Amino acid sequence: MGSDDLSGRKPLLVLVNPKSGPGNALMLFHRYIAPVLCRAGQQYELVVTACAGDALYRMQHETLLTRWSAVVVVSGDGLLFEVLNGLFSRPDYEAALKFPVSIVPAGSGNGLATSIAVASGIHSEFVRNPVVVSCRALTQRCLSPVDLMLVQTADQQVHVGFLSFGWGLLADVDIESERLRSLGEARFTLWSLVRLIKLRKYRGRLHLLPVSDDMHSPQTELSGKGGRITTGKFACDKQLNVEEAAGPRGSSTCGGVETEKMKKCMRLCPRWSDEVDHPDWITLEGEFLQVYASLVSHISVSACLNAGARLADGTLYVHVLRAGLSRYQMLRYLLALDSGTQHLLPFVSVYRVRALRLEPAPRAPGGVCGHVTVDGERVQYGDVKLEVIPAGARVLAAQADPQ
Ligand code: ADP
Ligand code: MG
Repeated sequence: MGSDDLSGRKPLLVLVNPKSGPGNALMLFHRYIAPVLCRAGQQYELVVTACAGDALYRMQHETLLTRWSAVVVVSGDGLLFEVLNGLFSRPDYEAALKFPVSIVPAGSGNGLATSIAVASGIHSEFVRNPVVVSCRALTQRCLSPVDLMLVQTADQQVHVGFLSFGWGLLADVDIESERLRSLGEARFTLWSLVRLIKLRKYRGRLHLLPVSDDMHSPQTELSGKGGRITTGKFACDKQLNVEEAAGPRGSSTCGGVETEKMKKCMRLCPRWSDEVDHPDWITLEGEFLQVYASLVSHISVSACLNAGARLADGTLYVHVLRAGLSRYQMLRYLLALDSGTQHLLPFVSVYRVRALRLEPAPRAPGGVCGHVTVDGERVQYGDVKLEVIPAGARVLAAQADPQ
């Protein structure tokens, strides 16, 4: 991996997902982005992805990265998810993940682009004209660190996320509304109402490793029934069992991992075979309507999970909603996403964590069929380990227009 070349000498690699959101990403590129690059004398190579997985495959090819100054993704968050997972699957993953990336919002979920704009203090301008404002980053060339998270599922797949982790209501909305992609962001609102009417409960255990001593500060008593909060007694093995983590050798699917890589990257979560039983961790057990966590302020243009989150604060913000809440309370939660004020609701518990482990109860035959998601993409349903990688990647962040 060469050193940064943001001087404009090397071309940008621009990846466009023609199936993003309402399907107008290529049109947005030609209308708004290409003219900006031309005016700035910035060369670029345009690639319209052929299928899901195309960007992931391209990012795995080492020699290509020396050709570009940055990778620009014109899409929703899903294509950037592919890009980062492709970079993580390379042998030089540490340097590769630091390769400058940029996102111009063209999908139905544009959480990172929104969060970057919020962090740069240009949110209202962004809301009025997201593509034009995000485009500025391509010529201003201001790099900002962002946190990542490493998520390992029980089938040993590893995924790199930059946005969100979900189980329950919002995760189900993310996945099940995909059939309505042509509606753009409205698909989330519509499907939230469907899920609200047919509210599901999920049984399981959630282990959380808070960021500091004062972190376990849910705003109120948990309102779910039958839950428990425990703290453990024994020191956990902070070193992941490497053999166990490696999965089938030669696995090269999205995020298939090598032994050394996992040993280096996942150090906080105890191994699968061990109980999470350490005083630094807290455990919540019982029935949940939702566990939804995010690294950044916004998970889409209009959904703010954590108004105070910064791009690289090393913190995952976890919202926990227990079973036992009414539909009206859930509706209040969803409405509060607009203003980012959920933490003020007495029935929402918010935890700031560095790592978590989720253990959903096995699905009963004919029982509720929910989803686990990373950045709005479905991952294997079942046990999950997650750790934050502070400042794991770097994005081009648009700044206020000096004129
Ligand atoms: P949206 O925000 O609308 O979900 P995304 O950019 O997040 O849009 O992309 C959605 C999915 O499309 C991603 O999972 C990505 O892997 C996939 N994808 C990328 N390129 C293509 C393509 N050419 N055809 C179909 N799917 C694609
Ligand atoms: Mg998406």
